[in-house]
Amino acid sequence: MKIFGYHFRAENEQGLIDNVEGAIKHLAPLGLTHLIIEINNCFKFKGHPEISASNITAETLSTCCDKLRKANIEPIPLYNCVGHQGWNKRNSLLKAYPEFDETPDIPDENLIAKVHERVGHKWLTTYTPAWCCNEPKVYDVVLPAIQELVNATKCKTVHLGMDEIFLFGQCERCKGLDPANLFSNSLIKFYNYFKQKGIKVMIWGDRLLDATKLLGEVGPHRARYEKDFENVGTAKCIDKLPKDIIICDWHYKLEETYPSANELLSHGYEVWPSCWADGDAAEAFWNYTLKTATELDRKDLLPGMLVTGWGIRPLNTLFNSKEEDLIEREVLILKTFKRVAKLMKEYKLN
Ligand SMILES: [Zn+2]
Repeated sequence: MKIFGYHFRAENEQGLIDNVEGAIKHLAPLGLTHLIIEINNCFKFKGHPEISASNITAETLSTCCDKLRKANIEPIPLYNCVGHQGWNKRNSLLKAYPEFDETPDIPDENLIAKVHERVGHKWLTTYTPAWCCNEPKVYDVVLPAIQELVNATKCKTVHLGMDEIFLFGQCERCKGLDPANLFSNSLIKFYNYFKQKGIKVMIWGDRLLDATKLLGEVGPHRARYEKDFENVGTAKCIDKLPKDIIICDWHYKLEETYPSANELLSHGYEVWPSCWADGDAAEAFWNYTLKTATELDRKDLLPGMLVTGWGIRPLNTLFNSKEEDLIEREVLILKTFKRVAKLMKEYKLN
């Protein structure tokens, strides 16, 4: 089945409703098939209300997803696992459970400086803390929470995030342990839980992409491009993971090559190339990935493309605004929707 997806962050009920209505009204006619709803802790969890950070109820989410299905759009909830536990400060989960924190010794006000000190990554201007992959109690809280999102959305696939985790082996439980094992053990734990319930799992791809292997040694090109890849040692697990985990391979800039396409497709993963606002970049990335899949004779692993909606207003508001009231990336993404829709329409999977 061919796909054309859109991802957005649902931070509250109104934002969720506005995006869902906008997707049905404006993107369904362009051929949208999937809506990735990044909810994280912005949901009123019944089992763990202590981690709730906003007002999205199960009833509202459920109603929104029923409307999406009626418009032939499949909802996919996203809950950020391991990394992205807040932006430059701890989120509601780490505040409720400080013992889950992978770097409890780093105060919020010093996060970014400490990350630069420990792993380099001078290009990082914001930092998001992580939970400890090796703390069993994390799963007792988080798995039932994600299950509530699965129940409300009645989804067939769940997105676990798992991107941009920079600090492994920092806490007492993890010191000296291999980041690739920590990452893969954690992912497989989630995978096994959902597999037995018949739910597919997807993640962002960056932790499976070795910067040195795919970009070569440090230089000006790598310095600009390497934040799409990893250099903390997680990519070694690329051979060990179940091949039915779907990988959202994200690149937002125009590049000459996208070596992640060959890396992920040749390892047998289903890949959803994921673009952002820049339409030229989206088209170049799609064409490169399609060429790679064709050469590998693995178009069966390339069902289509995902557009991500970072830092833009909800869809209904976006489509109803005058162009002069929009910021540059919003003007661009409106054009990118049309370009990606055209590419997906022209794409012949078989
Ligand atoms: Zn740890």
